[in-house]
Amino acid sequence: MAVDAQKDRQLVTMVRSEKKVILNLNSEVLKRLLLVIFALAIAVPFCTVKAGELSEEETAFVDERNRRFQMCLDVLPKDVDDALRALSEEGLSIEFDCPEGSKKKECRITVKAEWGLSWDQIPEEYQDGDGYCEWVYGFYQTKEHVKVMGCQVKISLNVEELNSTEQRTGVRGEIHTLAVLYHELLHVQLPVDAMKTDEWRQALCNCQDPGLPGSGTDGHDQIDPFQEDYVERLWDKVQYEEDPWTVKQKLGMSVYDGTTGELLAGIALDVYSEEGKSVHSVVTDTNGYAEVTLPEGEYHVKAKIGILGFPVEMYASPTIILDKPHSLRIYIIAMFVPVKFLPTIIYCTLAALIGTGLYIAVKKATVRKRRSRSIDRLQDREAMRG
Ligand SMILES: [Zn+2]
Repeated sequence: MAVDAQKDRQLVTMVRSEKKVILNLNSEVLKRLLLVIFALAIAVPFCTVKAGELSEEETAFVDERNRRFQMCLDVLPKDVDDALRALSEEGLSIEFDCPEGSKKKECRITVKAEWGLSWDQIPEEYQDGDGYCEWVYGFYQTKEHVKVMGCQVKISLNVEELNSTEQRTGVRGEIHTLAVLYHELLHVQLPVDAMKTDEWRQALCNCQDPGLPGSGTDGHDQIDPFQEDYVERLWDKVQYEEDPWTVKQKLGMSVYDGTTGELLAGIALDVYSEEGKSVHSVVTDTNGYAEVTLPEGEYHVKAKIGILGFPVEMYASPTIILDKPHSLRIYIIAMFVPVKFLPTIIYCTLAALIGTGLYIAVKKATVRKRRSRSIDRLQDREAMRG
């Protein structure tokens, strides 16, 4: 049993994105290698960035592109959920039972991925590219009849090159970076897909190395069309957006009559930024509802009601902090008069005013005419006396 386990630990395999490199190390060599790495890490404590680690700028670049990638998961032609899980804190774990008659009863696989290597640390033959993915895996045995496979994946982006392309070409360059990121994540996803097939599992259950289909150049037949499709879909999604990579939230607004509680259609809503700049205008639909999508931030909403073609400001909402989808209820109060009667009331008031004005004007004109007639008569009489 112990001998079996020893043999299992002897195989450590390394697969690189574009080519497969298999290294056979026995555990003694591995231990020494780890000691040397440990000693080096202690010996170079004054370097701000240790060899192989990402610099602060590289980390910031990679983090921001990952955030953008996560924002646009809806356009992926093929999802990479397992790859993203492998990149998470917990990593990805897969367990399955072996079919009857296999050498082992059960298999456990762990996949832990990270943005691990700075570009100058990746093998020279890959440095012309924009992205790089490297799998290192080994087989272990913790219990009898349980096969364990541990995988470490390191993904890298050519930050300098991608950054300069983005500077030169704007959104197209930004999409290119995300496409490279997607390409590398597919080099993680495809082998995980393979791990879910019966054939692959059968091989592992029988203590054979089933390999990592799709982790190297063999994956490009599948990856390239997905990548092209992704670029097109992403371009369609973001090309008309002013600031495509800011996080946006939905703000739903229902407008009620403050007196009757009825929902109000056709109410214009103006959304203002914290600085008082109008950022969006929208009109409530027949259900008294309107929706806008805005970047995270602070806003206030003013509701306006149109009367005889003149919008009258009726209500200003309190400030909203929009950091998640928000739904707002706006009650318009029109001095205890139902808002729906407001246009009629204002129309009647105006009609009454105009009517009174006309009556007064006509009356004044008649008085003036009578007076001028009397004056004419007086003048006639005086002329006769003269
Ligand atoms: Zn590739």
